[in-house]
Amino acid sequence: MDKQQEFVLRTLEERDIRFVRLWFTDVLGFLKSVAVAPAELEQAFAEGIGFDGSAIEGFARVHESDMLAKPDPATFQILPWRAEAPGTARMFCDILMPDGSPSFADPRYVLKRTLERASDRGFTFYTHPEIEFFLFKDMPLDGTPPTPVDHSGYFDHTPQMVSHDFRRQAITMLENMGISVEFSHHEGAPGQQEIDLRYADALSTADNIMTFRLVVKEVALEQGVHASFMPKPFSQYPGSGMHTHLSLFEGDRNAFYEAGAEYQLSKVGRSFIAGLLRHAGEMAAITNQWVNSYKRLWGASARTAGMGGEAPSYICWGHNNRSALVRVPMYKPTKGQSTRIEVRSIDSACNPYLTFAVLLGAGLKGVEEGYELPAGAEDDVWALTDAERRALGIAPLPQNLAEAIALMERSELLPEVLGEHVFEFFLRNKRQEWEEYRQQVTPFELQKYLPVL
Ligand code: GLU
Ligand code: MG
Ligand code: MG
Repeated sequence: MDKQQEFVLRTLEERDIRFVRLWFTDVLGFLKSVAVAPAELEQAFAEGIGFDGSAIEGFARVHESDMLAKPDPATFQILPWRAEAPGTARMFCDILMPDGSPSFADPRYVLKRTLERASDRGFTFYTHPEIEFFLFKDMPLDGTPPTPVDHSGYFDHTPQMVSHDFRRQAITMLENMGISVEFSHHEGAPGQQEIDLRYADALSTADNIMTFRLVVKEVALEQGVHASFMPKPFSQYPGSGMHTHLSLFEGDRNAFYEAGAEYQLSKVGRSFIAGLLRHAGEMAAITNQWVNSYKRLWGASARTAGMGGEAPSYICWGHNNRSALVRVPMYKPTKGQSTRIEVRSIDSACNPYLTFAVLLGAGLKGVEEGYELPAGAEDDVWALTDAERRALGIAPLPQNLAEAIALMERSELLPEVLGEHVFEFFLRNKRQEWEEYRQQVTPFELQKYLPVL
């Protein structure tokens, strides 16, 4: 047993922890958990705990359903909302096949494999997400809109706001679990919040996002409200994005930084962005995986700048241009190490492991093949006409899940990054979702057509 494993066992005893939750994530990004007694842990560390993989979305076919969840001791944390003795702790797991080899269906493995490819080239990949979500007073299940907890907007600070208490408690809980928070504020829509995590290596960030979503929902319930990461709950308000800042390091040197270059952006940084842009369409089904995701990207309030309604609809990059898919944020000349790029399409309901894997895969492809970065867009691309955008070579993102699926199907990069198993499962699952959606007759159609047709 190694030092970290010993530390976990010792802590369980010292802190009177009776339940250890083993966490992993299914292909669509839902958290799964099995609780084990501390006495089982030694075996879990050695071999993993067996479970039926065929019952987990995207994991296995029935004839090869036995799988093992092997806890990663580096992710051990006590759950603050279950801290009083006897307490509960959690660890994220790697999923293994019965012969001990990694499961190709495990999103955490998909990301690890891509991170290894980057590390073969000497790169470490860091991410820093800005996570947006809504707080509601209720959670209606019959298709009627929920009620936001307040009527505030971007950066608002009003007395006795539910969201102040909420953010204070949620952030304290996250910090107690070793997740550092950098900023938090009210976002543009009523009841909408944003909490930004401090940058960390991409695997830790993905684990942190999974924890974050649970913590936010737990704290909301504790305060008598409901949290949701649904990309676009209201047609009239902006949706919830998860803008993510990316950087590559070579040792302790930021590989995106070059003193004196335009925007301090190195050749590696430029080709990385070129990779993100060239593959943006085929990645959209991963970064924006739900029917509803495309309502955020294309909804009218997607482009209500100043209202926090700045979801990108077109594939281009710019410096400080909030209508662009990729933005090179403002830099301070003395802060070369913080050179980074912000991807703005991603929504808060993605699978963070798969999302980071495809972003890194696309960026690395750009670097490996020396893709040329097209000219940046300094205009508000929403304000241009279609013809002007065409002349500038600016293509739209997919307009709905069906278009995203069609682009993903033709991708050469995605099966390579995701592996055939996840690639095929994902497409099957998403085709089914689209099929279900397009069979619906919606309130929009009834209101628009019934009286006049
Ligand atoms: N809520 C916006 C979105 O859907 C982003 C607002 C912002 O710029 O932070 O992407
Ligand atoms: Mg925001
Ligand atoms: Mg942002």
